[in-house]
Amino acid sequence: MGNSIKMVDLHGQYLKIKDEVDQAIQDVIADSAFINGKQVGAFAGELADYLGVKYVVPCANGTDALQIAYQALDLRPGDEVLMPAFNYVASAEAAVLLGLKPVFVDVWEDSFNINENLIEAQITPATKAIVVVHLFGQPANMEPILEIARQYGLKVIEDNAQSLGSVYQFSNGETKLTGTMGELNTYSFFPTKNLGCFGDGGAISTNDQDLAQKATMISRHGQGQKYSYERIGCNSRLDTLQAAILSVKLKNLDNYLQSRIDAGHRYNQLLGNLTKVVRPSENSWAKHTYNQYVIRLEKRDQIKELLKTAGVPSMIYYPSPIHLQKAYDYLGYKVGDFPAAEKLCNEVLALPVHTEITLQEQEYVISSLIQSINSL
Ligand SMILES: *Cc1c(COP(=O)(O)O)cnc(C)c1O
Repeated sequence: MGNSIKMVDLHGQYLKIKDEVDQAIQDVIADSAFINGKQVGAFAGELADYLGVKYVVPCANGTDALQIAYQALDLRPGDEVLMPAFNYVASAEAAVLLGLKPVFVDVWEDSFNINENLIEAQITPATKAIVVVHLFGQPANMEPILEIARQYGLKVIEDNAQSLGSVYQFSNGETKLTGTMGELNTYSFFPTKNLGCFGDGGAISTNDQDLAQKATMISRHGQGQKYSYERIGCNSRLDTLQAAILSVKLKNLDNYLQSRIDAGHRYNQLLGNLTKVVRPSENSWAKHTYNQYVIRLEKRDQIKELLKTAGVPSMIYYPSPIHLQKAYDYLGYKVGDFPAAEKLCNEVLALPVHTEITLQEQEYVISSLIQSINSL
C-alpha cells in the first residue's frame, strides 16, 4: 500500500478523461495555431462563465498574472503592497521586480490565511494595494478585508492560485467564489492546482473592462496596434495546447473539487480528536476545497521522515517565511516579526490529497502517521 500512495496523481486523473484530452490535443495539432489559437479565447470565455466574471485574461503562469495585475493597477516604484507573511514567494517576487515594496502581515495560525485584524497597523501613505492569498483551498476573511480596502482606498488582488472553486460567505448570507471579489484576481494552472494543465498556465479575472484591456495589453508586450507599444509590458501567453486541455478539465472541475472536499473531510474524520495533530480549520464563512490538506504537529521533520519510511509522501508548505529568506533580507525584517507565520513554518505538514485518492490510502496515511507519532 505504502509504495503506491502519491502526493498527487495526475496520470490517474488524465486516464479518466483520456479520449477527450487526446482529441483536444489532436485538434490543436491539426490547426497548428500553437500560439493564440482559438482554444485560448474559448477557454477564457468558459472560465469567465464558471466564475461569473466579465473578463478572463489568460497568461503564461500565476506569477506573471500577479505581475501583470500590479502593472495594470498602475502601481509605481516605492508603492507598498500588503500580503500575508505565510505564503508562496510569487506575490513578493513580482512586486520587487517592479520596484514595489512587499509589506507582510501575519496570519491566523488555524486557517493559515492573512489576519485581517493586523492589516491596518501596516498601512502607510505609500500603501496602494493588498494581495489576499486564499491558501490551500480556504478563503481568507474577505468581508472585513474589502471594508478596510474601501476605507483606505486600497486595491485588492486575490491570489486565487490555490483556491479556484472555493466559496466565501458574507455575513448577510451572500456567497461569492474566491477570485471574483478583488479589482483583479490571479490564477495558476500549474498541474497540482485545483485546475491544472499539462505544464504552466495562468490567468487574471476582473469585472472592469479598462483593467481587462490593460492586462491584455501588458501580457502582449504593451502592444496596442501591431508594433505600436503603448506601455511597458511582457510576453505572457497561455499556449493553445494548454488552453485546449484546460477546457476539457474545466468541465470536470466540480467533480474534482468534490473529490478533494470528500478527501479532506475523510482525513478530518480519520484523525478524530488525536491530540498531537492539529487538523486544518474550516472557517464558518468558507467552502474549503482542500488543494492541500495541511496538519500541524510537533517534531514535524522527524515524523515526515518516518512517514517516508512507511511509504507515505508528505510535503512542507512552507519551510521558511519570505521575510526571513536571503533574497528578502534587504527589507529589514527579523525573527519574531511574524510569530504565527514563523511558527507555522516549523509545524506544517501537507498530507497526500488529490482527486484520485482512495479511502484505503487515506486510512494507511493516518495509521502510519499515528504509528510515527507514537514511536517518538
Ligand atoms: C502556485 C502559486 C503561484 C504561482 O503560480 P505559477 O503558475 O507557478 O507561477 C502564486 N501564488 C500562489 C499562492 C501559488 O500557490
